[in-house]
Amino acid sequence: MSSTIGINKICEWCGKEFIAHKCTTCYCSKRCSEHAYKSLRREAHAKKENLITQEKKEDKKKPLGNYFTPRQCAVLLGIGKSSVYRCLAEGLIPCIRLKGKTLISRASIDKMFENPPEYIKRENIGANITSLLDTVITRKNANKSRIYLLGTSFGAQGGWCILSQYPDLFAVAQLASAAPKRYTLENVVKTPIYFTLGGNDIDKASKYESDIKSIQDAGGEIVFTILPGLNHQQACDAAYTPESVSWLTKHKNK
Ligand SMILES: [Zn+2]
Repeated sequence: MSSTIGINKICEWCGKEFIAHKCTTCYCSKRCSEHAYKSLRREAHAKKENLITQEKKEDKKKPLGNYFTPRQCAVLLGIGKSSVYRCLAEGLIPCIRLKGKTLISRASIDKMFENPPEYIKRENIGANITSLLDTVITRKNANKSRIYLLGTSFGAQGGWCILSQYPDLFAVAQLASAAPKRYTLENVVKTPIYFTLGGNDIDKASKYESDIKSIQDAGGEIVFTILPGLNHQQACDAAYTPESVSWLTKHKNK
C-alpha cells in the first residue's frame, strides 16, 4: 500500500538506509532492484546447471540396461568407438537401428563370448600374400608368370613394401598415387614398375625424383608419369588406362 508516510528501510542490495513509501519495497533505487533481479536469475540458472551436472554424474554410475549404444559398448569392452563400428559393419556384433539410433543388446555381447571363434595368431602380411597367391594359382589355374601387383594410394604404399619383401613374385607392378617410401632399393629394382602421381597431389612428385633416379641407376625399369592437374583421388581414378594395361601385359616373369 502506497502512503505519504515515509518508512525507514535498509536496501537489500546496497545496504544503504532509505525512505520507502510501501512496506514491500526492498531496494533503494531502480538500479539496486535491477541488480538484485539479475543476481537472482543468475543464481537460479546456476542451480539448474548444477542439477543437470549432478544428474549426468548419477547417470554414469547407473548400471547399463539391457540395450546400449555403440559408445557405451566401446566403454564396456574397453575398445575404441571406431572398432565397435567396424565390428558392427562386419556383423561381428549384432545390432539393430531404430530411427537412426544403433542399439546393441547385452545378451548378444555375452553370447559372443560364449562361442568365440578360434584364436588365430596374427601372421605377417607376406605369409598372407603368398598363401593367398598359392590358393588363387591352384584354384583358378592362374599363370604364375603373369602375376601383376596393382595398388592405388595406401594400397600402392603397401605395394612398395611388398616389392621390397618379394622381389621375385610379381611380373610387374603398377603403383599409383603413393610415392616410394620405406622400400629396399636392391629388391624393388627387380620388378618393372609403372608409377603415376597426380600433378596436384599434396605428395609432390619433385620430392621423389631422386628415388626414381636411384631405381633407374640401380638397373630398375620404371615408368614415371605425372598426371597434370589431378589431385590425389583423381589421379587414383585415372591411373589405369589402356596404355598402362598394355605396358603391364608386355611383361612376364621368367
Ligand atoms: Zn540500494
